[in-house]
Amino acid sequence: MPELPEVETVRRRLEPVLLGRRFDHVEILDPRLTRPLDPSEVAAELVAERVAALGRRGKYLVVRFESGRALLIHLRMTGTLLHVLGGDALPEHVPHLRAVVRLDDGSDVVYRDVRRFGTWLLLEPGEAEPYFRERLGREPLAQTFTSRLLGETLAGRRAPVKAAILDQRRLAGVGNIYADEALWRARIHPQRPAGELGQDELRALHRGIRTALKTGIARQGATLSTYRTPDGERGGMQHEFKVYGREGEPCERCGQPIEKIRAAGRGTWYCPGCQR
Ligand SMILES: [Zn+2]
Repeated sequence: MPELPEVETVRRRLEPVLLGRRFDHVEILDPRLTRPLDPSEVAAELVAERVAALGRRGKYLVVRFESGRALLIHLRMTGTLLHVLGGDALPEHVPHLRAVVRLDDGSDVVYRDVRRFGTWLLLEPGEAEPYFRERLGREPLAQTFTSRLLGETLAGRRAPVKAAILDQRRLAGVGNIYADEALWRARIHPQRPAGELGQDELRALHRGIRTALKTGIARQGATLSTYRTPDGERGGMQHEFKVYGREGEPCERCGQPIEKIRAAGRGTWYCPGCQR
């Protein structure tokens, strides 16, 4: 499932393609993408909108239009966005095609989704910020995000630290993969109560989260199944995993075999030798 680094990779690649472009034609083929709204009505609303900016908030891609409206795209499990030159995106050639946006330069942005959990939500001017305020916590890669703020976010919480950093209302954009990678980097056991971490551990976790996410962006995300960059390429982060999916393999830091447990209701990989 795409997490912050995958969504940020998509954003960076699509930004130069979308900036200043007008949506000339929009086809939304799957009603699940826009429900409860009618997909053809949403598609009609998007026509003639011109892109002012392409942002990201947590795992949401945010297409901001000159009109002040914003299209919030969430890829969920298997959503992918591709940029293709006009004519290459005929529906009969593209499996799991859910939507196509024809831009005013003749190229297409194509949305595919195998599992169909992704969503497109068009918001009116001024609606995006309240929408995010209700649902999302701090951006872990923001300049202003410090280990002290991470400590405030986790303070008093008895939940396992893994569950706490997966909670989008506290920290936006971290999912199962990068949570495991961050905790390994910080040498913290995923089931430690979040509120019990000391100052040094909070600093290590802060650094671990940011390093894991930045490494993911540098490798253009992790491709485990369907994720692709907008050029159709696989990410490379899966080759950089320290613990995720590496059950039984030796920890590169201490040599102990990586173990798999369940934490926060999710499959969780960690090193029993050096994560306390
Ligand atoms: Zn280890």
